[in-house]
Amino acid sequence: MNIDSIRNGIVIDHIQAGNSMRIYQLLGLDRLACSVAIIKNCKSRKMGRKDIIKIDEDFDVNLDALGFVDPNVTVSVIRDGQTVEKRKISPPERIVNVIRCNNPRCITTTEPGLDHVFHLTDAERGQYRCAYCDAARQ
Ligand SMILES: [Zn+2]
Repeated sequence: MNIDSIRNGIVIDHIQAGNSMRIYQLLGLDRLACSVAIIKNCKSRKMGRKDIIKIDEDFDVNLDALGFVDPNVTVSVIRDGQTVEKRKISPPERIVNVIRCNNPRCITTTEPGLDHVFHLTDAERGQYRCAYCDAARQ
């Protein structure tokens, strides 16, 4: 794939340098059959260094997962080589099945069928707490 020009796909830009692998895993990009390019440590006038992820296919990005990892990213939808949509990300109030609770005594550890629900409790610091046991996750 020519990483400079995607015809149809998704570009996740302005990722804080170092966050791209975490986003790659949380979005499940390893399960895609299409090309995925991860560009690490790009020079950015605004950010110093940044990461970019380019996905060579129209893909339903989990915006909640993105907002949890890095709310400053931008998501561009590319069709026929043109950006047709830019999405601003914000930290979601509630995330479901994005991360798991680390507390070994939490009910989600013993009840495998439960959804893993976290609520945003501190928007400034991006802190989330488990909806069941109140354990904090950054
Ligand atoms: Zn919990």
